[in-house]
Amino acid sequence: MPVTGQRAGSIVVIAFGSLVTGVGIVTGIACLSVPGSDGRAGDCAGSAVIAAVGVLFLVVGIVAFVARPGPSRGPAAGAASPPRGIRPVVVERTVVEETVKVRCRYCNALNPETATKCATCGAPL
Ligand SMILES: [Zn+2]
Repeated sequence: MPVTGQRAGSIVVIAFGSLVTGVGIVTGIACLSVPGSDGRAGDCAGSAVIAAVGVLFLVVGIVAFVARPGPSRGPAAGAASPPRGIRPVVVERTVVEETVKVRCRYCNALNPETATKCATCGAPL
């Protein structure tokens, strides 16, 4: 489950970012609502830094959550518009290519479509 693990990791980062952002905002509001205390400016700046770091974690987590490689997008886009004529076998996997047989008209043996001679009796196909 690598995809689930990636999602869980991103969610953890997002949750951590939310927590740090909340702490920064709460401490910032508490700081601003208590005017006149000693070292007020320093506390408020610290709260702003904490909130900024939290937002950074939030952005990183969201980007990691959204921008992870989607395994269904590339093949789906390719299958939506298959190339006509040349190798239609690619769409239905190469197994189809190997099951195409030609029956020998002399001995009724099945030979690969690409064969020029019957593998059983040697007659030209
Ligand atoms: Zn034959």
